[in-house]
Amino acid sequence: MKFRNYLKVKSLEEFEQAIAAVEGSIVLLAGGSDLVVQARDNRFENHTVIDVLNIESLRQIEETDEYLEIGACVTHEEIAQSPLVKRFAPILAEASLSVGSLQIRNHSTIGGNIGNASPAADTLAPLAVMGAEVIVLSNGTERQVKLLDIIEGPYRTNLGDRDLIVKLLVPKQAETVRYNYTKLGRRKALSISRMTIAALLELDSEGVVTKFEMTVGSTFPKPMLFPDISAMLVGKQPTKDDISEVARSLSDKIPKIAGVRASTRYKQPVCRRLSERILKELIEGEQDA
Ligand SMILES: Cc1cc2nc3c(=O)[nH]c(=O)nc-3n(C[C@H](O)[C@H](O)[C@H](O)COP(=O)(O)OP(=O)(O)OC[C@H]3O[C@@H](n4cnc5c(N)ncnc54)[C@H](O)[C@@H]3O)c2cc1C
Repeated sequence: MKFRNYLKVKSLEEFEQAIAAVEGSIVLLAGGSDLVVQARDNRFENHTVIDVLNIESLRQIEETDEYLEIGACVTHEEIAQSPLVKRFAPILAEASLSVGSLQIRNHSTIGGNIGNASPAADTLAPLAVMGAEVIVLSNGTERQVKLLDIIEGPYRTNLGDRDLIVKLLVPKQAETVRYNYTKLGRRKALSISRMTIAALLELDSEGVVTKFEMTVGSTFPKPMLFPDISAMLVGKQPTKDDISEVARSLSDKIPKIAGVRASTRYKQPVCRRLSERILKELIEGEQDA
């Protein structure tokens, strides 16, 4: 594994000085659980590595009126165990807990999960349904962008090599918002997702849906939201037929968007049956404690 140079920075000021001083290509390193594996073929031998893992301001989870602000270098285990995340974004806590093993979760970060942009990344579907945004430090200025606008395709973002994900802004979810995160893998432990489903649903006192987002992960080239699927339930007291129709429409998106592949024969019917079950549970209120 070869790199041109390695620099470790401990603050945003040091980061900005480093990127200004380096000539040629840069690659950012956080926990390294994706990057170190990829670097084995020496694809980064002409790159300077800037290690951002120890930038203290990127390691905080904070709360504002509207958002949970999660630093890019917060690890999956810290997210999974955070009382703030469990309270205001429990679907993300659950997704982070499903990442790899404890060893991987202790070291790998949410910023790296986004930066790597794997279609199988576990946090992306939950972040998408919550409408998460990202603060990116770019050319000395911070800009706020939608997560869905950063990821362009499998392992491809529109971030430049000197752009740093600083933090995520995750809209705080009310306690009344029910959620489900389901991960299907090839085996139970240490499994990369074959398919995930992330759903948020809120009902008023009459049983009318006031909020509904549902998406499938590890299936499309990038995380996606479906306003047409949301519109099928919002404003309704869902019937059994409504639930079946949503499950059918969501699973029909698999061949439409991802094309017909060997896995479609498995994923499409599984998505349909699982979505139906998840929706039924969410509507009946069988929420895990
Ligand atoms: C054994 C094993 C099991 C795994 N299991 C899972 C799993 O179940 N689910 C899952 O989702 N993932 C899994 N992964 C993948 C990996 O752990 C995650 O994608 C992790 O979140 C990456 O974070 P990192 O800090 O290690 O990123 P790194 O490897 O350091 O970086 C990944 C990419 O993101 C970029 N990057 C990192 N930080 C920033 C930043 N702040 N700003 C801009 N770009 C940045 C890097 O340049 C690089 O391109 C697994 C990996 C391994 C090795």
